[in-house]
Amino acid sequence: MYKCEDCGRVFGRLKRYWENQGVVGDSPLLERYWACPFCGGSWYRLADCAVCGQQWAADQLSEGICPDCGGMILRQLAELADKEFSQAERRYIREMIEI
Ligand SMILES: [Zn+2]
Ligand SMILES: [Zn+2]
Repeated sequence: MYKCEDCGRVFGRLKRYWENQGVVGDSPLLERYWACPFCGGSWYRLADCAVCGQQWAADQLSEGICPDCGGMILRQLAELADKEFSQAERRYIREMIEI
């Protein structure tokens, strides 16, 4: 799925447009581009977060997970570590696996 940055609509397929860039020799120079089928605006790809299932701009996801869920996972992990490990152990873990 794609979302238009201009009109905000969501759509499954981009539309092909031709833009006339002027005339070169005898023939018109046409440039082809893909854009929003409703308004011709620019767009970005959407993807579903693997945890909450919400749609996000694809480049906002890391490993398929949105920033909201990612923050929650890291908070949970930190809480778990606080509960399960001593300070010395937590220092060691942080050193070994960069959280
Ligand atoms: Zn649009
Ligand atoms: Zn999410």
